[in-house]
Amino acid sequence: MNGILIIGAGLAGLTVAETLRAEGYEGPVTLVGSEAHPPYHRPPLSKGFLLGDTAEAQLAMRGAEAMAKKNITLKVPEGTQRAGAGATAIDRSARQVTFGDGSTLPYDGLALCTGARLRPLPLAGADWQGIFGLRSLDDSRAIKATLETAQNVVIIGGGFIGLEVAAVARRKGKHVTVLEAADRLMARVVPPAISQFYLDLHGSQGVDIVLDALVSELAGRDGCVAAVRTKDGREFPADLVLVGIGVMANAELAQAAGLDVEGGIVVDACSRTSDPAVFAAGDCTVRRLDDGSLRRLESVQNAMEQAKSAAAALLGRERPFTATPWFWSDQYDVKLQMAGLSAGFDSAVMRGATDLTAASRKLSVYYYKAGRLIAIDSLNQSADHLTGRKLLDKGISPTPEQAADISFDLNGLLV
Ligand code: FAD
Ligand code: NAP
Repeated sequence: MNGILIIGAGLAGLTVAETLRAEGYEGPVTLVGSEAHPPYHRPPLSKGFLLGDTAEAQLAMRGAEAMAKKNITLKVPEGTQRAGAGATAIDRSARQVTFGDGSTLPYDGLALCTGARLRPLPLAGADWQGIFGLRSLDDSRAIKATLETAQNVVIIGGGFIGLEVAAVARRKGKHVTVLEAADRLMARVVPPAISQFYLDLHGSQGVDIVLDALVSELAGRDGCVAAVRTKDGREFPADLVLVGIGVMANAELAQAAGLDVEGGIVVDACSRTSDPAVFAAGDCTVRRLDDGSLRRLESVQNAMEQAKSAAAALLGRERPFTATPWFWSDQYDVKLQMAGLSAGFDSAVMRGATDLTAASRKLSVYYYKAGRLIAIDSLNQSADHLTGRKLLDKGISPTPEQAADISFDLNGLLV
């Protein structure tokens, strides 16, 4: 018996391994990573860890010892072995994976959990010292160290990463500028009113946000970054630049092996790929929906849910990922929690406030399409978020009047 081989020792990979054990699988489980760390939590890397509130030891998900107890073989490179570590090829007919050091491992079932990597900024000067991306613990450590002495922080990209780091840098007293290419912040994930809320919030904290900014050049001095220039001729002095312009799925391994890949490894609701012995979960995937369209989610919940589905499918069981998608972001003292996908909403009501300004920091927005609730964004209203997830999971739609009325108990609709 060759057992189950999992490529990628991140959240999705670890969850596949642990779910297999929880479901009673007793064969060999091998989890192979390419980072020189056992699995760790990424969300604090742009929040508490960078700020100094979260210690490095708190980032670890599970150590080697905990995995040994569950009889999960963890293979991650030791510091110096890192270059070329990880899987390099899959031979699907022989059911065997080759690694960077030339070794091979056979499998009965394979789970691909290779995550995503940073989208590069294709500009002159992108390799000056002081320019960073943020995906890994090593990235966050390096940013944290440079942040100690930096004065002028320029952030390219006003998405989750850019804005969370902007909040940390401001709290550390730095001068912060965010250059966003689009005409509003976090456009990929929130509607315009929430973008405006965050524009105002960051403005009130002293962050300079430039929308429609087209970065043209990174200028340096003595090998270090000195400024970021935009196409309209403006120059922003910088001794730390963070590039947060999105990620790309690590799907090349799957593509080279002939699996369906369309901007990610194509999976169904049960994390099945186009090969019945191969499953995929997390940021490396894109999901084919029942209507044939593709949905790509990059989040903790998606990685965990798809991983649980993949583990079930590896055991020949069906466990479709049907839960409502949810996300969160922490910036300053505001926790944004999103339940459902608001894209395409045609009306919205607010609960807990009558307007959405940087002053009103405790409210939820309920989004409707054709009269049905499709999503809820909550600002510092965790209880609304949790109730909202349950309502959406059960397909229960309060009327807009009920949603807007704080004296109406939405939980009552769940019983
Ligand atoms: P990853 O966590 O990327 O793990 C994949 C692993 O596979 C990596 O270690 C990679 O090195 C390894 N790998 C790649 N190729 C190979 C190979 N060929 N062989 C072996 N190993 C390989 N999500 C939220 O929902 N909320 C948040 O607040 C949030 N904050 C975030 C903050 C930061 C700074 C970052 C970077 C992400 C954040 N996310 C957040 C996103 C979330 O962390 C990801 O969606 C999640 O980590 C995806 O898990 P994954 O296991 O699919 O991928
Ligand atoms: P993102 O959410 O895709 O945001 C990137 C932003 O940068 C987009 O608004 C993008 O605009 C903009 N951009 C692209 N090219 C640019 C350029 N040349 N100049 C200026 N702006 C540019 O990605 P991210 O913030 O980098 O996050 C990376 C990953 O980490 C994602 O998977 C994200 O989900 C995850 N993450 C999640 C959280 C969270 O859930 N709280 C926190 C941190 C990170 P366009 O859309 O117009 O290209």
